[in-house]
Parts: sequence; C-alpha cells; structure tokens
Amino acid sequence: MALLVQKYGGTSVGSIERIEAVAEKVIRYKEQGNDLVVVVSAMSGETNRLTDLAKQIDPTVRGRELDVLLTTGEQVTIALLTMALHKRGYDAKSYTGGQVKILTDNAHNKARIVSIDAANLAQDLKQGQIIVVAGFQGVDEHGNITTLGRGGSDTTGVALAAALKADECQIFTDVDGVYTTDPRVVAEARRLEKITFEEMLEMASLGSKVLQIRAVEFAGKYEVPLRVLSSFEEGEGTLITSDSSEDDSVEQAVISGIAFNRDEAQLTINGVADTPGVAHQILGPISDANIEVDMILQNVGADGTTDFTFTVHRNDYDTALNILNKVAQDLKARVASGNNRIVKLSIVGVGMRSHAGIASKMFEILANEGINILMISTSEIKISVVVEEKYLELGVRALHDGFDLAEYETE
Ligand code: ADP
Ligand code: ASP
Ligand code: MG
Repeated sequence: MALLVQKYGGTSVGSIERIEAVAEKVIRYKEQGNDLVVVVSAMSGETNRLTDLAKQIDPTVRGRELDVLLTTGEQVTIALLTMALHKRGYDAKSYTGGQVKILTDNAHNKARIVSIDAANLAQDLKQGQIIVVAGFQGVDEHGNITTLGRGGSDTTGVALAAALKADECQIFTDVDGVYTTDPRVVAEARRLEKITFEEMLEMASLGSKVLQIRAVEFAGKYEVPLRVLSSFEEGEGTLITSDSSEDDSVEQAVISGIAFNRDEAQLTINGVADTPGVAHQILGPISDANIEVDMILQNVGADGTTDFTFTVHRNDYDTALNILNKVAQDLKARVASGNNRIVKLSIVGVGMRSHAGIASKMFEILANEGINILMISTSEIKISVVVEEKYLELGVRALHDGFDLAEYETE
C-alpha cells in the first residue's frame, strides 16, 4: 500500500462538477489500496478575485490581512471536496494549514515553511480517512495566517509528502506533464517523460509556472518523488528525478526545454564614472528598497564613463526607476531610462555542460528571425536572453524548432 500526496490546482477544482470529478479520481486511487492526502488550490480565478477586492480598498495592500483574505479561497475547496467524498460514502476530513499545523516564518504573502506537525494526519490516515488539506497556507509561531506566494499549493503538497515520507507527490493540473516549453505558446511542444530536479528548478526559476520554484527546491532537498499529471486524462505525466544517467531523453537532448518570463523590466543608467564602487552605489539603494535584481550588465568603459543596465520584476519597475533617477542625479550620470516591455527567453539543459556552441546556435536562431538581443546571461545549464516583448512567441517557437524539440513521431 502506497501513501500518495496529490495536489489539484485551480482549474482542476474550478467548478462543482470538477470538484466532484476530483472526488471520483481520489476514490479510484483509494480503492487501489492507497492512503491519500489531497491538497487543493482555490477555485480557478478565486485568488485573483480576492486580490482585486483588496486592491479596490488599497492598491498597495500586502501583509497580514491580505493573507487572511486570500486563504479563504482554499478553505472553500477543502470543505467542498470533503463533502463530495462524504456523499460517496468515504471517510474524509478537511484541514486548513493552521490546523495541520504547517508552521511558516512570518514573511506574509511569501512565507516559507519551517516545519510540519504531521502527527494528526498520520493518526487519521491510520484510521483510513482521506485527508484534504488547504494548499498555499500556514501559520507563523504566533498563529498568524500566512501564505506561501502564488502557486504555493505545489509547495504545500511537496512539503506534506516530505513530512509524511509519502511514496510520491502527484501534482495534478490542466496539462498532462512538463513540456519542452509552455504548450499554450508552442502547440508542437513535447511532453517530457522525465526531467531532472536541476533542470526543473531552472525552468521554474526562469518562468515556467507549471511548478512553484520552492516546490521543486523542496522536492530536490528532501528527495520527494514528484510527478506532474493531468487531472482530466489518464497518463504517466512527467517524473521529476535526480537521476539523469538512465534517462535517454535527457541524455540525447542537449536542450531539455525553453522557459520564458514576461515579468521582466530593464533599467539603464548611462554615463556613470568608471570607478570602483559605482555598481554598489547604483544597486545599493535598489536592494535597500527590497527590489530583487536579476540580470546585470556593465559595458566596457570609454572616456572614463560607463553604462550600467539591470533587470527587475515588472511590478517593481516604477519604484526602481524613481530610485535610479535619484541615483543618476547623485552620481552626476548622463541619464537613467527604462523599458518595461521586455521579456526573458531561456534555454535549459544539463547536456549543455558537455556541448560547446550552444550559445552561438541560440544567437544565430534569433538573428535569423531578426530578433535583437538586449542582454545575455549564462550559467552552467542555461542561457538567457532579454528581447523585446513583441518577439516572445516568435522567439520561443524559433528556438523550439531550431533545437529540434518538437514531437516528430507520427501517431
Ligand atoms: P495549476 O492551477 O494546476 O497550479 P498552473 O496554471 O499553475 O496550474 O500551471 C499549469 C500551466 O503551466 C499550464 O497550463 C501551462 O500553460 C503552464 N506551463 C508553462 N510552462 C510549462 C511547461 N514547460 N510544461 C507544461 N506547462 C507549462
Ligand atoms: N491559489 C493560490 C494561487 O492562485 C495558490 C495555488 O493555486 O497554488 O496562487
Ligand atoms: Mg500552479
């Protein structure tokens, strides 16, 4: 008998019909002899709806009360799913994050899980109950309700699976696995049978929202077997694995996938003195404002001055530009400017380690489409470029094609 932690995302519980369908699916697994802990998200669109309500009162709202509000979404779905299981004659019990208890730090809106007290759940499982847990939420040490950041129900699922030493954590969603790129952008994208934690972590960090980054981190750290599957169809989905050696698909392909991120914005300061300490003078005030910087580019100096460019999350663009304008005055720079209509395209693959020429091939593919590269950054298993937003779809498709990632086999 296996212990499975299953997580169902927003679309999968988006209506009463879908919640009833999830109940049927959970029961099928139960009837196969498995113990089940089921984590659910809020109904699709609900977290956005609640956020909009809060913003009508205060557009800049964040913190404790926002978490009190947002966690109601998941409280609705745990109750409804549990009722649907009861109606079918099954023993089931719902838990909020606090009831479990999923202890987090006190960083409201983006809290991290510190520990999980799984004793109650283990007891209920022993008695044959199906356990239904609200995703995305926890409590801090003072009992304040916290949330884990958007997409955080994935992390609840993985963390519970780690705490309960589950045999597998299954993330059920509206696609049937992890694809070579977002199948909504490239119809020819191919489902991967397996992907390494390392690659999945890069994909998630670089914008593939199919799994929350922290869920992948957690699964890698605690060696939780993790699988992404469809709620709507049967199938094997995609296994996230630490083992790349036996994996043909990972071994053969130099590039495993393409990620993109629309949440980027670029800022530039021209004509700053090319002297020690300037990078710190520019980025210090940005980091003091709690703004995370992603890519950084400094040109080779000329005439004793240089240009400095960096990217931030698009939500931080206005604040960052204001800060930069002030810095430009202080540093007597020529001008500060910005562009919030840029995106980041990345290719990811462990095979890159042993293959040269991947970067130049990427640049050639983009050049052939007339796409200008604004910034470049590389690490061991990824290459990212910043391009204008209008080139997102074209760029992703061209790279997908150019690196032969599409499905060729005919049915
Ligand atoms: P859920 O509500 O179930 O958590 P999400 O919307 O968070 O679902 O994640 C699933 C979505 O992730 C898919 O609908 C798909 O558009 C998107 N996605 C982005 N990149 C990928 C990828 N490489 N493979 C599969 N899906 C991806
Ligand atoms: N409901 C939350 C969100 O929409 C958490 C989740 O679905 O994972 O971000
Ligand atoms: Mg999600």
